[in-house]
Amino acid sequence: MGDRAGKIGGGRGGMSTKKANYTIERRPDYIILECPHCEIAFEVDFDKLAKDIHSEDGHEIWFGDAGVIVTCDYCGQEVELGDADVS
Ligand SMILES: [Zn+2]
Repeated sequence: MGDRAGKIGGGRGGMSTKKANYTIERRPDYIILECPHCEIAFEVDFDKLAKDIHSEDGHEIWFGDAGVIVTCDYCGQEVELGDADVS
């Protein structure tokens, strides 16, 4: 049985370990909002939204007020997306 813990951070043989900060990527599937017309909550596919605003990864959607208009599933009226909240 090898002592694996002893190898990590040993720092010998010209190898060095450096620390790097990282970002946990969360790729959203959809957003959910309550329609201001009929007050029924509906979901909109995130990739479709990103495509609508010609955004590669849809990062504008994370910050809100991206000028995105969606159509309510229930009443068919248009809703402009306001502030974003991350669950
Ligand atoms: Zn509606």
